[in-house]
Amino acid sequence: MCQVEEEYHGPLLREELPSVSRQCVKCKEASAAVVIRAGDAYCRGCFKEYFIHKFRAMLGKNRLIFPGEKVLLAVSGGPSSCSMLSQVQEGLSQNAHKKLRFLPGIVYIDEGGAVGQSVEQRRRTVEELRAVFRATGFPFLMVPLEQVLDLPSSVVLSAPGAPEQEAGAYKAAVDHFLLSDGISGVTAGQQQETPPPEVQEAHTHSLQRLLGSARTLTAREELLNILRQHLLVHTARSAGYSKLMLGDSCTRLAVKLLSSISLGRGAQLAHDTGFSDSRYGDTILVRPMRDYSAKEIAYYNRMFSVPSVFTAGLDTKTADKSSIQHLTESFVIKLQADFPSTVSTIYRTSEKLQSCKGSASAGGDRCLLCVCALDTAAENASAFSATLISEQLSQTKSPGESRQAPEWTAPASQCCSIVGGELCGNRGGGGCSSAKASEPPPLRSLLCYSCQLTIKDMSSEEVLPQYILSEAERRLRRSQLREEIRDFLLEDEADEG
Ligand SMILES: [Zn+2]
Ligand SMILES: [Zn+2]
Repeated sequence: MCQVEEEYHGPLLREELPSVSRQCVKCKEASAAVVIRAGDAYCRGCFKEYFIHKFRAMLGKNRLIFPGEKVLLAVSGGPSSCSMLSQVQEGLSQNAHKKLRFLPGIVYIDEGGAVGQSVEQRRRTVEELRAVFRATGFPFLMVPLEQVLDLPSSVVLSAPGAPEQEAGAYKAAVDHFLLSDGISGVTAGQQQETPPPEVQEAHTHSLQRLLGSARTLTAREELLNILRQHLLVHTARSAGYSKLMLGDSCTRLAVKLLSSISLGRGAQLAHDTGFSDSRYGDTILVRPMRDYSAKEIAYYNRMFSVPSVFTAGLDTKTADKSSIQHLTESFVIKLQADFPSTVSTIYRTSEKLQSCKGSASAGGDRCLLCVCALDTAAENASAFSATLISEQLSQTKSPGESRQAPEWTAPASQCCSIVGGELCGNRGGGGCSSAKASEPPPLRSLLCYSCQLTIKDMSSEEVLPQYILSEAERRLRRSQLREEIRDFLLEDEADEG
């Protein structure tokens, strides 16, 4: 979801234009109103056409959203997701030939509780957005972030998705849809006016305690991203939406790409920044705004009066260096100002990324928090194991633990370290018991490298929502059980051999 900072702060159109009026490069008739890149000056009409075309082209190229499919738009109130909403409206109002043919709904996550807004401030923002959503005629849901505390554990499981679509399936579905009078069926659906659920003060406090337990803003932002995504996916699932549209612009994704690398999320980059993200299986995340820069969006929203609503984020009014994400953002934006192709260069890189076929594709373990394939089963020579070793080294040096034999003298791959995302479970016999005391808390073994870092920055794991804790318990129990019967399984295999 887009953040506040996505707001474009650079110079807006008029000042950039030379005083002599220039012609539109497209129609060569009207005078230019917008300069997107040096040399690309568009008139108002051509800019609108270009902008609208880009949205449809992005969806058309990827052929992921089928006619008649229910698609939930995650709108944060920021310029990018509001622009996405207006593009969907635009697409639905087109004539039959160019019309978008899916069934949209809107979800807004009210994060006011997380950033310490008063009940009154939150109510005002919700009212403002409600007016915007009502005007679209689409059904919409206003969900307070506090509801994340009541999620079922199923949200952190990747549900089996629809079977892989054949190459011709999309075209067949469109043809079928056109034949079967589908167009009249595709209206926006009835707008439901469900009042937003009452937020209990105690829930807000638990949420604040949860986020407050993160010692750094970096970890707090990561935690908030994870919780928000869980709530969005759960909302989509329970309301029967199979696609979730996110409003990440190309500028946002460039920032996300660089900060993800700094946060140790290299293995998950393709999921985090790609057009489609299938980590949740049945609910696919799509990012149709990924071709637009924040600047283009700002121009369009201003010229065509697309409403957006300011909502404060965790890092609003904080210094550049307050978090890795925030620092990366100001870095990219400053670089972009001097070297205008920066963002698109980073973004083009993200297009080439592919998720590595990790164990998860074979039904293996996934991170308990971000639901990506675990990247912790890497070889001994990886940066991850190097970090583990240096962490163990620094722990053994502390005076309190001097009585123990240095852990690193034991081969790291056998003794009480994380092996393939599971605890070794004392497999090595007597050697392990002494090391047990300084072992990292078991919950961490269920996380990818980056989420481990996030949790490490928290003062307590106990404040995590119940759905995460109980799923952790279930997974740990299961791996323990697997460990207990391991010997039998090996014997069976030996017999067969
Ligand atoms: Zn023109
Ligand atoms: Zn993770």
